Amino acid sequence: MKVIDKNKLSIAFTDKSLCTRSGTCIGVCPTQALSIGKEFYPEIDPEKCIECGLCAKTCPGGRVMYKDLTEITFGHRKDSETFDGYVSHTFVGHASDKQIRQGGAGGGVITALLADLLDRNIVQGCIVTRMKPDKPWHGEAFIARNSKDLLASQQSKYIIIPLNAVLQEIKKEPGIFAYAGLPCHIHGLRLFEREQPKWREKIRVVIGLFCASALEPYVAEEMLECRGIDKKSLKNFHFRGGEWPGRHRAILNNKQIKNLHYSNFKDGAINYLTYLYSPFRCQTCIDGASEFSDISVSDAWTRNEQGQYLFQSQSKLLVRTSRGLEVIQDAIESGALIASDVTQNQHYQTHRLHTRKKGLTAPIRVERLKQAGKTVPLYDRTCPTKSSRDRITEWLESSIMKAGEKRSIRYPLFKFLTSRYGIPIVKLRQYIKSRKYRKR
Ligand SMILES: Cc1cc2nc3c(=O)[nH]c(=O)nc-3n(C[C@H](O)[C@H](O)[C@H](O)COP(=O)(O)OP(=O)(O)OC[C@H]3O[C@@H](n4cnc5c(N)ncnc54)[C@H](O)[C@@H]3O)c2cc1C
Repeated sequence: MKVIDKNKLSIAFTDKSLCTRSGTCIGVCPTQALSIGKEFYPEIDPEKCIECGLCAKTCPGGRVMYKDLTEITFGHRKDSETFDGYVSHTFVGHASDKQIRQGGAGGGVITALLADLLDRNIVQGCIVTRMKPDKPWHGEAFIARNSKDLLASQQSKYIIIPLNAVLQEIKKEPGIFAYAGLPCHIHGLRLFEREQPKWREKIRVVIGLFCASALEPYVAEEMLECRGIDKKSLKNFHFRGGEWPGRHRAILNNKQIKNLHYSNFKDGAINYLTYLYSPFRCQTCIDGASEFSDISVSDAWTRNEQGQYLFQSQSKLLVRTSRGLEVIQDAIESGALIASDVTQNQHYQTHRLHTRKKGLTAPIRVERLKQAGKTVPLYDRTCPTKSSRDRITEWLESSIMKAGEKRSIRYPLFKFLTSRYGIPIVKLRQYIKSRKYRKR
């Protein structure tokens, strides 16, 4: 068998733990030597590989150079030095179409923007995701060409999806595309744009999702198992189905809908999932805000002093580039998006939880693991100043996440926490949160 120089390949072939499973190497390969393999890691057909090195140059796994990404996206090399990244405008809003709004994870704004671009023929397709029609416990990337496709792409799928693998498909096509993805996907896409600048025009707009962590691809299967649901009876899997903020639920072939946990997504399951199912590479990612997108979208979790949500079923949009601003203004003008400009309101300028989790805890983790001789992604951003309390928090979180790697620990724990016996813990959490908001 042909032997390939591993330095010419993406990081998955030398250190799997650093692979983001973004699918970039698969999407950029000029000879289709790479494909999606087990657990969404890339696999190689050595006979097809020509050792061009493109997959190594565009790999977002082992090295994330903020200065380079800043230059590709914004045309200069100065670090924003904030966790939110470069932001010119902030909006809060929702899709004006009722179906799109209700179908969204937040206010359906990503879908509203993409639908507007398609309607006005600015783009001919959108790179998005859905749960696999034949295996609805896994996600997949696809190209949406009309509003029906876009409706199928709605919702956050809190799982690893090698989105960029789909670039392979549009390479052969003329036309302009829009793109919605997670921070790691966007890192890979931007590096590809650096190698082949024509892609900067082919992908007209890059919409980034805020991301605390994706989850291991086996999470949905384990959730079904916890509730005794046979995979074969599954028609679809919703991470945030039903009334906002939604619930994880199974849609069965006989049209029955089964909730997979008590409480809602925000107060219940997601808090456990991000500890027990977070991949190692996500734990060491420091970009939670999709800093290199044209527009970043997050949930508008802002609460009032009573701890109630101010913007139910809405999303927050951080505009980073003139392309991003144009897309939003056009969508407001065409009536696809209803949004208010809240740029001047300090309240919307940062995300406390994210600033902590990705802006502080993740860099501390990277630094600690590096000192302990472990392989971690290389960043050109220095770790922020931290207190002993910050270090202890990081260590505790990391210990829980480490325990989550063992099924014998995570499965019974998750089953208990998401059962009715876990409700007192949810109530306690809600009480602590409401006290925090009252104190402000
Ligand atoms: C893994 C993950 C982690 C997240 N973490 C946070 C967080 O910590 N804080 C926060 O405020 N928001 C987070 N979000 C974003 C948030 O959940 C909403 O997706 C966002 O507010 C957009 O809502 P919407 O109603 O406008 O989008 P919708 O109209 O529902 O459209 C969602 C879009 O996101 C795309 N998408 C969904 N899942 C994936 C995926 N796995 N990979 C690539 N693209 C995907 C879809 O293809 C679709 O285009 C996360 C999303 C994901 C997928």
